[in-house]
Amino acid sequence: MNIYGTILILSGPSGAGKSSLINELNKKIDNLYFSVSVTTRKKRKEEIDGVDYHFVSKDEFKKDIEKGMFLEWALVHGHYYGTSLKYTIDALKKNKIVLFDIDVQGYFQAKEKFGNLITSVFITTPSIKVLKTRLLKRDTDSLSEIEKRVENAKKELQKAKEYDYFIVNDDFELAKKQLLSIAISSKVKTFSINIDNFIKKWV
Ligand code: 5GP
Repeated sequence: MNIYGTILILSGPSGAGKSSLINELNKKIDNLYFSVSVTTRKKRKEEIDGVDYHFVSKDEFKKDIEKGMFLEWALVHGHYYGTSLKYTIDALKKNKIVLFDIDVQGYFQAKEKFGNLITSVFITTPSIKVLKTRLLKRDTDSLSEIEKRVENAKKELQKAKEYDYFIVNDDFELAKKQLLSIAISSKVKTFSINIDNFIKKWV
């Protein structure tokens, strides 16, 4: 079976505004499928199990690794995070734009397996100062968690050149437009269109 779905990967520090941008994409793009990750991190107050993440214990996560359930998984800030292989394949078969919000380690693993289907975007804040301010203002993580996230962000930024696109989320409206145009273009790449079928019908 030929697959005409595409994978859109967003990476970048938590606090860069990825979730808000994803919400905007969801409103504007019909055939988008957001891959809900599995994590061992504790649920935040405003999060919904099954919507933001599937929250599981470390034991459950490790069993899932053994069963080969993940397309990719990584230890990020001391917590496990992983992407379901099965749901991704199902969505790709349905011709969807499958959206991952994953870290840099996960991106490299996904690239190994599905490189030809991937469009990747690194999203960041204009400076580390802005990142810290946003994380503090968000008030969802402890100070030590925030420190870990900021340290990790510095390391992740070093890998940004490995991505197809780079968005600095300073002006949200601009970042939104940039991401939307990337997502729309990703679905007109030739590999994501059944051109043989089109030609059959066209001639
Ligand atoms: P948060 O705990 O702030 O929701 O996410 C922390 C980091 O984990 C973010 O950089 C996010 O992109 C990353 N992340 C979320 N889900 C996954 C996943 O399934 N796989 C990997 N590798 N990283 C993930």
